[in-house]
Amino acid sequence: MNNKPLGYTYHSHTKRCGHATGEDEDYVKKAIEGHYEILGFSDHVMLPGKSQHGMRGDYSLADGYFKSVRSLQEKYAKQLRIYCAFEAEWYGDAFKDYYEDLLSSGKVDYLLLGQHCFLNSEGGFTFYSQVSDKKKATLMYVEDLIKGMESGLFAYVAHPDLFMIWYGDWDAFAYQCSVSIIEAAKKNHMILEVNMGPSRWGRRNGGGEEIDVAYPCPNFWDIVSEYQLPCIIGVDDHHPNELLDSPFDWVRDFVQKHNLNYIDRLKIDSKYVK
Ligand SMILES: [Zn+2]
Ligand SMILES: [Zn+2]
Repeated sequence: MNNKPLGYTYHSHTKRCGHATGEDEDYVKKAIEGHYEILGFSDHVMLPGKSQHGMRGDYSLADGYFKSVRSLQEKYAKQLRIYCAFEAEWYGDAFKDYYEDLLSSGKVDYLLLGQHCFLNSEGGFTFYSQVSDKKKATLMYVEDLIKGMESGLFAYVAHPDLFMIWYGDWDAFAYQCSVSIIEAAKKNHMILEVNMGPSRWGRRNGGGEEIDVAYPCPNFWDIVSEYQLPCIIGVDDHHPNELLDSPFDWVRDFVQKHNLNYIDRLKIDSKYVK
């Protein structure tokens, strides 16, 4: 194997989020170099009236994001199908209308459900990983994720097994939470994403020895396999080069080993992309 890129990703960031680097056009150029057919920009959602530095761009950057992606879409239409999207948390009713408007106005082509944090009582953000009671954090995560799936606004669930980052152990509780997520996905006809993020940054410990990544969590995906739910891979790149040098053979092997019901295209209803 030669680590050939997959040819698509619907999960790609831009420098606006504050923890990614590179110009938008560089992502496009790398995708073309890697013979991608599809590049979906899905930066962390910019939210009116909210700011969360280092995690998402301020809302004032949203228009520039839409314009930049749409102009690249036009410029490179012959070489690559480019989508404009957001990776967004479900925050209950707080941003439901906003998400609906993003989709119905065609500002974005789709939304990915990527649950990282929740709105706390002061109206700020708390990452689930910051909650000291790890079981409580996981239950909150599962509940928010399921409500997001039920909203019907999302094209797929990004890194559904993210909770393994803070929960860590595969035990009866982790198993039960996984089953809850997977059963909700089945009921709501959701596609689940095998996320490539940690396969780049989480494969070695401080001493440099190879370790299991927190996600994709093999035990979680064994259950997904039993349910035969559709799954897709997300590169979740935060640098243009990651479109070329992420461990694609590793993730292909993961999908195969777990006998997953793998799909590599989404049906996207876009005003701009044919
Ligand atoms: Zn994410
Ligand atoms: Zn992401």
